[in-house]
Amino acid sequence: MSPLEQSVKFLKGVGPRRAAALEAELGVQTVGDLLMCLPFRFVDRRRVHKICELQADMPFVQLCGRLVEVYTEGEGRKRRLKANFTDGTGYLELVWFHGMAHFEKTLRVDTDYVVLGRPQEWNGRFSLAHPEMEDALSAARRPRTLQPFYRSTDKLGRAGITNRVFSSMVETALALAAGKMEETLPVYILTCEKLLPLEEALRTAHFPPSAEALPEAMRRIKFEELFYLQLDILRYGHRRKRQTGGYRFARVGDFFNCFYREKLPFSLTGAQKRVLREIREDMRHGRQMNRLVQGDVGSGKTIVALMACLLAADNGFQAALMAPTEILAEQHYASLCEMTRGLGLNVALLTGSVKGKARRAVLQGAADGSVHLLVGTHALVEPTVCFLNLGLAVVDEQHRFGVRQRAALWEKNVLPPHVLVMTATPIPRTLAMTVYGDLDVSVIDELPPGRKPIRTLHYSKRDMARLYAGMRAELAAGRQAYVVFPLIEESEKIDLRNLEDGYAALCDVFPEFRVGRVHGRMKPQEKDEAMQAFLSRETQILVSTTVIEVGVNVPNASVMVVEEADRFGLSQLHQLRGRVGRGADQSYCLLVTKDELGETARRRMAIMTETNDGFEIAEEDMRLRGPGDIEGTQQSGLPFALRAADLLRDGALMQQARTLAAEVLEADPDESLPENAVLWRTLGRMKRQTKNFSAIS
Ligand code: ADP
Ligand code: MG
Repeated sequence: MSPLEQSVKFLKGVGPRRAAALEAELGVQTVGDLLMCLPFRFVDRRRVHKICELQADMPFVQLCGRLVEVYTEGEGRKRRLKANFTDGTGYLELVWFHGMAHFEKTLRVDTDYVVLGRPQEWNGRFSLAHPEMEDALSAARRPRTLQPFYRSTDKLGRAGITNRVFSSMVETALALAAGKMEETLPVYILTCEKLLPLEEALRTAHFPPSAEALPEAMRRIKFEELFYLQLDILRYGHRRKRQTGGYRFARVGDFFNCFYREKLPFSLTGAQKRVLREIREDMRHGRQMNRLVQGDVGSGKTIVALMACLLAADNGFQAALMAPTEILAEQHYASLCEMTRGLGLNVALLTGSVKGKARRAVLQGAADGSVHLLVGTHALVEPTVCFLNLGLAVVDEQHRFGVRQRAALWEKNVLPPHVLVMTATPIPRTLAMTVYGDLDVSVIDELPPGRKPIRTLHYSKRDMARLYAGMRAELAAGRQAYVVFPLIEESEKIDLRNLEDGYAALCDVFPEFRVGRVHGRMKPQEKDEAMQAFLSRETQILVSTTVIEVGVNVPNASVMVVEEADRFGLSQLHQLRGRVGRGADQSYCLLVTKDELGETARRRMAIMTETNDGFEIAEEDMRLRGPGDIEGTQQSGLPFALRAADLLRDGALMQQARTLAAEVLEADPDESLPENAVLWRTLGRMKRQTKNFSAIS
């Protein structure tokens, strides 16, 4: 057995109790697992600060000085231990809130100490809470280097695993494994990617001889993780491609050609053409397509989807287009009918509100094949919907659809239909490579020509008069405006009242214009009427909840006002903003918040006003909310937990790892090359370990 696979239990200084704590808290079972618990920070023990140099925003500092006084303050739960510390340049307070008995016993007044902690300023004086203390004599005996700091928890602390204990466990583990560590990447990969050997990388990552040595070591470790991640994902995709047959769309026929020549309302952008080529290429070969089309709001995904549907029809197959909301399905239906008028393409609509005779007719048409293109909501995946020969399923604005619903669509057939997923939710690229890693990705990275970037401005409530003035100017010029209110389920009643109040207020402020409203509580038909009235410019202002968030297209609208903008997520705000700026004129997105904003909210508003780039916003969003929050996609979709790499920050490395993984699979499709044997073995082990851990925790 390689030393890395041995249980940590047998390491000197560990034992069953600590081993149990390590496993419960960090998922560490083996020596190898332990070595993968990398320090999250280093403190440069060569650098000694002076009290007089302290500043409020300093990270951890090391100070040398003398304890002049130790005393307690307060009673009961408020009791704390304090010490007065000086290094001759000033005084500093040390504070303990728990574990006081130990320090009361061991701290000695009039003795020199080396203390380590993060300085906090309080009433012009600095203090350190729970500093790490070492008496100056024993500190002098240790070499002064970068000291690693490891993640800790209460439980680890109670098992006696302090930071110093942890790092000496790691030292022991490294000594045990020295010279015996199996290299987990083939030599040719180490060479061509210029990676450090595993052992050296791990040693350096824990105990770097200098700060400069760290990045190379981390690159090796992260690269390995990301490489195995991508290898696993791509391997799955490869297998599926080799196994799953698909319909062959060999012909480009009259529907497509006639549309292209006579009906196309504009010329396609370069990006649209490229993506369309990629789709055609996918569908030509008798393999099932699974493609994700990513394009920012307004980049023109609909037309690309339509043309793919025309190819299906040209080859005698039906197509389905699934949208996340009724309003959007209806709008797609209307615009697709409009665009394909005279082509002889039979387009039908199926939503929850298509009922009775009309519904029976649509179902009949799907089943007998006379409907070429069925547009709808998730009603499309209900068991009553049967297709004669569904060849292509388009899922628009995917983020609102569960994976399960998507899967249900392709179960409606003997062979799975080609699947095209279209999303504007700018999910960070690195996450996309992982979550949608088995899909092929096309990116529409170009907006139709002549679009002016939307101007985004942040207003606080007291500036409403100015906001209304700007809005009035746009309305007077014949443009239209959305005013959106948040609607979050728990507080739905209050929110609905906000919306109604807002509606009344706008009617007052703009007596010369007509105001409509639409929200989730309305009947589908009422919603539809409100949307239609706005579309036909009967109303100039549309007050709404986020039902308009996704996909709605009213090119004449040039103002998007978002009330209580701080209650929306950044990606959601970006989606809302995408509802304007669809024509050639200047459009505006006006974010309204209360006067006083917290730090994060201010930062979020600033991001929105600074950039129009959906990907940048998604990444910032993830950064602010923490990656765990991106609709549960973070770690849950991964074949094993990442310990070193960060999905968000290591995007470039991930891309590199993905490219290499693809090359490896290309060169060794049967996984039979001897030099790659270590790859499949290591991958298997990584996945097994994760399974064990997740079964336990
Ligand atoms: P999204 O990608 O957000 O779904 P849409 O498909 O709704 O975007 O397109 C947004 C708007 O841009 C629509 O009004 C559409 O007609 C228009 N559009 C799409 N492609 C082009 C193009 N190549 N040139 C000009 N306008 C285009
Ligand atoms: Mg769209």
